[in-house]
This record gives sequence, structure tokens and C-alpha cells, in this order.
Amino acid sequence: MLLEAKDLSVVYGRTRAVDGVDISVGEGEIVTVLGANGAGKTSLLRALQGAVKPSRGRIVLAGRDVTNGSSAARVAGGMVLVPEGRQIFVSMSVHENLLMGAYLRRDGGIETDIAAIYERFPNLARRRDMKASVLSGGEQQMLAIGRALVARPRLIMLDEPSLGLSPLFVEQLFSLLKDLNRDGIAILLVEQNTSMALELATRGYVFELGDVVLQGPAEELLGNQALVAAYLGGG
Ligand code: ATP
Repeated sequence: MLLEAKDLSVVYGRTRAVDGVDISVGEGEIVTVLGANGAGKTSLLRALQGAVKPSRGRIVLAGRDVTNGSSAARVAGGMVLVPEGRQIFVSMSVHENLLMGAYLRRDGGIETDIAAIYERFPNLARRRDMKASVLSGGEQQMLAIGRALVARPRLIMLDEPSLGLSPLFVEQLFSLLKDLNRDGIAILLVEQNTSMALELATRGYVFELGDVVLQGPAEELLGNQALVAAYLGGG
């Protein structure tokens, strides 16, 4: 497994946001984490990334225990988070935002990789010297993903990347994720757009109040009537 979290818990004061869950992502896999607001999905990703310290459990990335390591160590180990709300640097240019993604790299290939990102996202190339604040929501999401790619990840974690995007951008986003996966990048996707996430993913986990209440192959979850009734709604 590329990423393995075992018995992971995240506690804020008296709130047990994540309660002893086991999650794994294999090399080149697409795994989705579903669940209602407040189920603990963001807390899970923040713990995996190293932004919050788990109160219990272990996180192993590519065979190395990173539980007590920094976020930077995890990025260097190949795991990057595209956070909820994108969190790009709005007062910086598009190009500067992309350079931020390379802050841990010491090799000479950064400009080549950024050129490849501009090729993938022509809208970003056209706006490379503009402030990121002028980008549309969809373009900001592309920038956030572009910035993650500059770190040359083996695994990208995304926290509700489709939130607030128009249906056209959502389509583009999901097709981008498919392309990235074809290029060999594993994906851990937290989504509210349950049906699209399950159509893209190989496996899924369903969170409820910090617990994994259901897991399995995406196809199986899509066929689960109770799940469909609870989370898929009309979407
Ligand atoms: P959402 O889809 O709204 O982001 P989520 O599934 O990602 O929801 P979390 O944001 O991880 O859920 O929240 C899980 C629980 O932890 C919630 O009860 C939330 O109120 C609580 N929580 C999250 N962050 C904090 C924090 N920094 N301090 C205290 N409680 C928090």
C-alpha cells in the first residue's frame, strides 16, 4: 500500500472528529471518502497531511511511518493535499503560486514541470503574471491542483474540489483527475458529489460521525440502496 492509516483518531477538545479508522490507498488507486457534513472527512485529510496531530493511530506512507513527521516530510514523501477552499495565495501571481508548490524541491526540473502544467491548463498559462485573485473559481481549483502537481506527488488528496464549481468545471475537474490517475498518480478524494466520485473511484469509504460505516469497491457502493438513499439524493 502507498498510504495506510491504522486506528487513526482526531480529537478536538471533547469532539471526537475521527474515531479509530483504518484507511488505505494503493499505488495508482482512486479512493473516495464520502459522508455528510461534519462526518470527519476534512479532519481525516488534515491528519494524513500532518496539519493536525492524531490523538491515536499510525500513518505509513510508502513503507515509512510518518505519524510524527512534519507536513513537509509527507510532501517530500510524495503525498500532497489540495485543501478545502483551494487556499491559493490570492495576492501572488499564478506563476508564483505554482512556484510555491516546488518549495521543497532542490532539483533543476521545476521550470520544465511548470511548463507542462501550463500546457495542461492553458487558462493558467494565459494568466501567469496576473494575481490569482482574478481567476474564476474553476481556474483557482486548477491552480490549486497545478500547485500540488509541482511537488511531483505519487498521491494527491483533494478535499471537496468540486464545491462551488459550475457543472462544466465539475466535468473538467473529474476528467482531469482521471488523466492524472492514468499518469500514475493515486488519488484520495473527499467529495459531496457522491455519484460522480463513486463513478471515478475504485474503492470508497463512507464516514458517519468519525467512523467508517461502510467500505468497499465503488461499484458495490453505487449499487447499495441504503447508501444511495442516504447520500446520493438526486445527485
Ligand atoms: P465538512 O464536509 O463540513 O468539511 P467533514 O466531514 O469534513 O465536514 P470535519 O470538518 O472533519 O468534518 O469535522 C468533524 C467534526 O469535528 C465536526 O463535529 C466539527 O464541528 C469538528 N471540528 C472540525 N474542526 C474542528 C476544530 N478545529 N475545532 C473543534 N472542532 C472541530
